Amino acid sequence: MSETHIHDVIIIGSGPAGYTAGIYTGRANLKPLILAGMLEPGGELMKTTAVENYPGFPEGIDGPDLMENFQAQAERFGAEILFEDATKLDLEGPVKKVTATDGEIYLARSVIISTGSAHRKLGLPNEEALSGRGLSYCATCDGSFFEDQEVAVVGGGDSAVEEALFLTKFATTVHLIVRGDKLRASKIMADRVLAHGRVRVRYESEIAAIASCAMANGAGEAVVGIKTVDRSGNIDHVPVSGVFIAIGNDPRTSLVAGQLELDRFSGCIKVMGRSSQTSQRGVFAAGDVIDPMYRQAITAAASGCVAAQDVEHYLAESAPAHLEAASA
Ligand SMILES: Cc1cc2nc3c(=O)[nH]c(=O)nc-3n(C[C@H](O)[C@H](O)[C@H](O)COP(=O)(O)OP(=O)(O)OC[C@H]3O[C@@H](n4cnc5c(N)ncnc54)[C@H](O)[C@@H]3O)c2cc1C
Repeated sequence: MSETHIHDVIIIGSGPAGYTAGIYTGRANLKPLILAGMLEPGGELMKTTAVENYPGFPEGIDGPDLMENFQAQAERFGAEILFEDATKLDLEGPVKKVTATDGEIYLARSVIISTGSAHRKLGLPNEEALSGRGLSYCATCDGSFFEDQEVAVVGGGDSAVEEALFLTKFATTVHLIVRGDKLRASKIMADRVLAHGRVRVRYESEIAAIASCAMANGAGEAVVGIKTVDRSGNIDHVPVSGVFIAIGNDPRTSLVAGQLELDRFSGCIKVMGRSSQTSQRGVFAAGDVIDPMYRQAITAAASGCVAAQDVEHYLAESAPAHLEAASA
């Protein structure tokens, strides 16, 4: 079934980028339609407890509470939110088509893609349950919770090494668990981590299991250690209270595959300069899906703001042609 109404803008994704784009396009009276997603409306921050680095909350704020505020603010300015996934996009031409899980095809003059990115997972059975309870994919976000404790970082590339070095500010010992026989990180970073007195590198090792035990406050289980196994089959139990997984990150781009240009190295949607303009006219992208580097709530929100303003300018400049095409 296809709607006949043509929206000014459809936003796909409801993390900090999508909702911020909703707030700005709402305030610009563009009546945005947000496809918030079925499984994870609110995005990555729904998986975490204290967010301590989002400005404006000096005492910190729980991730789900922060995202509830984002949603309420977008709704206050007239954003329509559907908790559906976009399943197919047709991004060519002046009127874009967005197929959703409710079976509808929604039409729009512009689209903002803010589908985020997914951290690669180790694939351990309790990984999901321990996320935010000692297991993290972001040292910048969660490192300070591990003051004077032992932690492990999994990975051997630049981001793992960066995470390990960052964590030395807090942790007593950082165990870097590397699958290969050497670090893949750039030489300067590798040298730095190898020279650091508080980092212990375990080569040719993998985490076979994460040990957990019930928290005193009754809020489920928390990490208490890891079981490592090396290539010769030697097993070790390391008591750590934090495990940081840094084995890569995949931007969620399957929806736009073949329709938008992606960066060859990072797989992120390519945008022009500091704008949110993708390789397709009328299609903009924001947040972690365009960002191989910073991936924070504040940078994603800022990027959603950029996309909203780009949409405003695009619609203002190209309105007559669009209206003609739409009515043809
Ligand atoms: C455990 C954890 C803790 C973190 N802690 C912090 C922190 O303390 N501070 C900080 O600044 N950052 C933190 N981050 C990073 C931060 O969450 C991300 O950088 C930020 O959420 C990215 O925002 P985004 O809007 O680009 O994407 P996301 O938040 O990933 O949102 C993507 C959205 O797209 C939707 N979506 C995906 N596919 C579809 C589809 N086909 N149709 C419709 N919707 C779709 C999803 O449902 C989701 O709503 C943390 C991340 C994690 C995983």
